[in-house]
Amino acid sequence: MAQMFDASLFRILIEHSFDAITTITRDGRASYVSPVITRVLGYSPDEFLTFDAFEIVHPDDRKAAADRFTELVATPNSSQTTVNRVRHKDGSWRWIETVASNHLDTPHVDAIIASCRDVTERRQATEAVRQAEEKFRSIVESATEFAIFTTDLNGNVNSWNSGASRLLGYDESEVIGRSCRIFFSPEDNERDKAEAEMHDALVQGRGRDERWHVRKDGSQFWGSGWMMPLRDEAGSVRGYLKIFRDMTRTKLAEEALKEASRRKDDFLAILAHELRNPLAAISNAALLLQMPADDRTSEWAPDMISRQTKYLSRLLDDLLDVSRITRGKLRLKNERLDLSPVIAKAIETVRPLVEEKRHSLAFTVSAGGISVVGDPVRIEQVFVNLLSNAAKYTDEGGSISVIAQKDEMATIVVRDNGIGISADMLTRIFEPFAQAEQSLDRSQGGLGIGLTLARSLIDLHGGTISVKSEGAGRGSEFAIRLPLASSENDPETLPANQTLLPPKRTYRVLVVDDNQDSAVSLATLLKVRGYETNIAYDGPAAIELARSFGPDAILLDIGLPNIDGYEVARQIRNSERGKSMFLIAISGYGQEQDRRRSKEAGFDHHFVKPVDFTSLSSLLSERVPNVPK
Ligand code: ADP
Repeated sequence: MAQMFDASLFRILIEHSFDAITTITRDGRASYVSPVITRVLGYSPDEFLTFDAFEIVHPDDRKAAADRFTELVATPNSSQTTVNRVRHKDGSWRWIETVASNHLDTPHVDAIIASCRDVTERRQATEAVRQAEEKFRSIVESATEFAIFTTDLNGNVNSWNSGASRLLGYDESEVIGRSCRIFFSPEDNERDKAEAEMHDALVQGRGRDERWHVRKDGSQFWGSGWMMPLRDEAGSVRGYLKIFRDMTRTKLAEEALKEASRRKDDFLAILAHELRNPLAAISNAALLLQMPADDRTSEWAPDMISRQTKYLSRLLDDLLDVSRITRGKLRLKNERLDLSPVIAKAIETVRPLVEEKRHSLAFTVSAGGISVVGDPVRIEQVFVNLLSNAAKYTDEGGSISVIAQKDEMATIVVRDNGIGISADMLTRIFEPFAQAEQSLDRSQGGLGIGLTLARSLIDLHGGTISVKSEGAGRGSEFAIRLPLASSENDPETLPANQTLLPPKRTYRVLVVDDNQDSAVSLATLLKVRGYETNIAYDGPAAIELARSFGPDAILLDIGLPNIDGYEVARQIRNSERGKSMFLIAISGYGQEQDRRRSKEAGFDHHFVKPVDFTSLSSLLSERVPNVPK
């Protein structure tokens, strides 16, 4: 049975509808509006009915609204939905959605029937979403530092930002639809790292991306970022978002730091080893010396102690020099000098090691000498380093040669037929702490800074140092080139003559030191070398012995109690016999001002503790010919 409605029921329906219902005449004026209009736009129905057509529609929307209305009127039985801004009674603009149908031809109706609903909030929400999306898109686009792209569930790219193009080298059109595996290295693809990232994203909410990525051109960069799941409203995963950036520089810096720290640790381990060995040897020798004398011990132990002490001092000197060079504090005391005696001195220094390993050592130098401007101590130090390396890294019975020549520069080549240097080692041999594998068994000793030092010192002299080796077992060759002091041309080479004069007669030396061990040991060493010695432990005793013992030379410690070494020297110089004595200061300090002070006090020479005995004895033998060396 058909439903029956009476007029009052219709009225209730219309007046209680959520939307305001209105009838509009052909010319656009409202002829009826339901009371709901007051809730929607604030006007009473009577007020509403006084408005002209579209009077309260926003001026920007008015024309379009009128056009659409004309369209509606022109099309019988049609309907349309429009959304326009309409002024509320309170003056605000409301988005009103109007669903209108043309009933102009319907008998008894003859009107446009429209229902009006306030959709402002819905519009605002949609607008907010649109703006947020817009904002997000522009952030994604402007984040050119970041590669941001999304993939489907299989990891195939489906969106791509400009940062991704910049970083990975693919245009959006080239990459959409392709698997994100193309950005992974072959090794990572072998281990399905892309899939592992997606898996982590699913299981843990995000997957860490820290790896070398591959660009379109095949080059690699260190990418750092995340892969995250993309969910739809229902929470189901629809794909993945990947965001990462190029952190290659940071990665490399980190690795360099790690490497430096590793090298520092290695260095400390080597240093500890290098210090422990000589100290152990010295303490053993000291123990042996306390035992009843036996010939072998009494010869061997002191020798060993002196060798090890020398080694320790050299180690310390090298370390201090490296630190000075690093801080730019190393100053050269340059003078014009002949290279030949400087190299000869270096050869003398390493001779014990060369002899111990029964190497032959030949030194040839251009006749007429080679003059350069440099610091003799530093140049000698470089050759001591090169020569001791040649001796260390050559098996017993090897041959070492030093050839000094000049063309437009002085060239000195130190060659050995030893263990040689691998191609890899050749490239880093001058770097601090670089040591070849075979020398790491530590049987050769050393800190790996000798060549670093040599290169720095030669640099400071305006020269160069280079290395050659045909490889393992094929020997090594180090060439030093230094600027000549002046033009010289005498290409002939002659063997050098380095023999020093043998001792002829005894000589008196007074040793003055308040440290009894130092005094006795030094005096004993001198005695062993054939000097006649005497010892004083303080200033007054020294002055007295200078008179009564009549020494040719006095080794005088500066830091004496009561009367210091300077005063003792002055008083001795004032005496008749003291004028001709050879006075040597022995001091803990070796700065310029300390040397000047000792010179002013009357000293002929200044030694810094610990005294290098070889230098001391050669000084004595040089100053006074025909005495023991
Ligand atoms: P150290 O000798 O204290 O290790 P250096 O800086 O003097 O340090 O030398 C660095 C490394 O270079 C050595 O450990 C050794 O591996 C290699 N090397 C140096 N000179 C020679 C050489 N003449 N023959 C073979 N290897 C050498």
